[in-house]
Amino acid sequence: MLNIEGLKMEDCRMRITFMGAAETVTGSCYLVETEQTSFLVDCGMHQGREAETRLNHVPFPFDVNQIDFMLLTHAHIDHSGRIPKLFVDGFDKDIYTTKATAELLAIMLPDSGHIQEMEYEWQSRKNTRADKPAEEPLYTMQDGIDACRLFKRVLYDTEFRPAPDVRVIMRDAGHILGSAILEIWITEDNGSGKEETKIVFSGDLGNKGVPIMRDPAIIDGTDYLVIESTYGDRLHENSVNKVEKFVKIINETIAGGGNVVIPSFAIGRTQEIIYELNREEEKYKDERSAFMRTPVYVDSPMATNATRVFRENEDCFDEEARQYISNGDNPLDFPNLHFTASAEESKALNMSQESKIIISASGMCDAGRIKHHLKHNLWRKDSSVIFVGYQAAGTLGRKLVDGADKVRIFNEEIAVKARIEVIEGFSGHADRDGLLDWIGAMQEKPVKIMLVHGEPEVIARFAGSIDEKFGIETHIAKLDETVILGGQVTRRAAVSATRKIMDAEPLITVLDSSVDDLERTLKILTGQCKAELETAETPSDRASILARYKVILQKETDKLFEKIH
Ligand SMILES: [Zn+2]
Ligand SMILES: [Zn+2]
Repeated sequence: MLNIEGLKMEDCRMRITFMGAAETVTGSCYLVETEQTSFLVDCGMHQGREAETRLNHVPFPFDVNQIDFMLLTHAHIDHSGRIPKLFVDGFDKDIYTTKATAELLAIMLPDSGHIQEMEYEWQSRKNTRADKPAEEPLYTMQDGIDACRLFKRVLYDTEFRPAPDVRVIMRDAGHILGSAILEIWITEDNGSGKEETKIVFSGDLGNKGVPIMRDPAIIDGTDYLVIESTYGDRLHENSVNKVEKFVKIINETIAGGGNVVIPSFAIGRTQEIIYELNREEEKYKDERSAFMRTPVYVDSPMATNATRVFRENEDCFDEEARQYISNGDNPLDFPNLHFTASAEESKALNMSQESKIIISASGMCDAGRIKHHLKHNLWRKDSSVIFVGYQAAGTLGRKLVDGADKVRIFNEEIAVKARIEVIEGFSGHADRDGLLDWIGAMQEKPVKIMLVHGEPEVIARFAGSIDEKFGIETHIAKLDETVILGGQVTRRAAVSATRKIMDAEPLITVLDSSVDDLERTLKILTGQCKAELETAETPSDRASILARYKVILQKETDKLFEKIH
């Protein structure tokens, strides 16, 4: 870490830097810095648009060696996918997470590494043809395996202290198996004594009444809340209609002789679909319905392995699922359910004429075996594709949902003739009312709410709803922005001061504005500017850094004066 002269940070306070999932739904990664400790919350992959995925290759904007530990909310790749990269860069500290998350990631991170290697191979062939140098893969399958050594398993509802000034409790977020809400208490010296500030990270918050999953845990209260906003402006279809609609589409498609293709996240959604199909089968047990005779194929090695992890973590299941188990029924199995393993078995699915239901990953159709099934079914009028998950902007799934009449798959143009259906109720995320109710259930409401993990328009509308319902001040997190939280504390120089800012401007936001905050902000920015100047190699580099900071300082000063008024 650079020791920046003149930036003793005596007056600086605990802060959060948002390094992903800021006005977008992927790349969750937050840096929390206290007086003595720096830690990460999540380290996810940026997915979707090319501009976003490129961010995965940008060096981490902090010194990996200065991070003391990580807290991981859940296994989804947009929250965990860059852990192996962090590991390759030298991070060897503990990553605290639940047992189920660690077990899911033992499957997912090597798989993600494998995808990185394949993409790298494809890209290097392309580069060779263009006579360009090859790029390195983000990380390899082996890195994915090795990174799993860092996981330290913790129990739900049990306090642990990853650092002397930090205590944490993970609560069930009800989003996917092992998902957690983080309750974090940080002790700092406020000048006249020790003071504890609480921050809650919602992680991804689940829906109520979802099969298998428990409802998200209620939190007593917090000083600050960082909350996801994925469906912050929408209400889900109610779940009774949702299952009816789902079964109706399946029955109609099978009657017409077509296939039903369900792009699904391997983890969570696939098990939920299996659970719902199992429940439907129970209903028709005595009738020889078409539904009962139609084979269901889970064509995703990861989904197959994940289903095994689910079966091994029944203690995380909700009441109803445990009831099935105690009655001797496995809620994640039924007679006509098959798991395909090899690529040959997968290919064979597209050769046979028999109507079938294919559940395959990835859920947003941007990778994996689902692309083959779409290639073989999209052009068929008698087939259906049922989307049961969120489709991020820029993905193949989103194009189909948005009504594209042709798409490119494996460099081949495919006409879209199949019936495309979206069933939104199958969401692993709480909807607007779910999120608002969760905040409403807190006895001690947060003083400030920071909004992450949502598309810009959605977040803005969700912020409006929070204001309307609770009158709590919200802050929409920006990429690379540092937010200074309340409390009078002294602390060491910020990690972000060492940051080599590449294209993004540094943003500093002070949540509790005062003239002191202005002074503090200016100090931090001056510090960052000095740090950057040290890295400048030529006089013209220096000049451009100075010019950039002149603009930033002016903007920040204007903004703060406006707030103070
Ligand atoms: Zn998630
Ligand atoms: Zn997420």
